[in-house]
Amino acid sequence: MEFNRCSRCGSFYLSQDNVCPKCLAKDNLEFSTFKNYIEENGINNSLNDISDQTGISPKNLHRFLTYENIENNIQTKKNISKNITNL
Ligand SMILES: [Zn+2]
Repeated sequence: MEFNRCSRCGSFYLSQDNVCPKCLAKDNLEFSTFKNYIEENGINNSLNDISDQTGISPKNLHRFLTYENIENNIQTKKNISKNITNL
């Protein structure tokens, strides 16, 4: 078993999640806020602007960017809706 250190609160924890169990709910919420934001606005704005508009700290935004390939997910979604339109 390996200890992870929570990047939100600094606590140590054992799960495979990106943050400790205490922060997980808030982290998931902010991550979906962030995903919704970039789906609508793209990631052309600076992290500071995104932070102002979403209320998520730049530090957490930066971490979200390192999560699974976000841009690919958005691209996939766009392709899916394109295919639906073509049907
Ligand atoms: Zn935590």
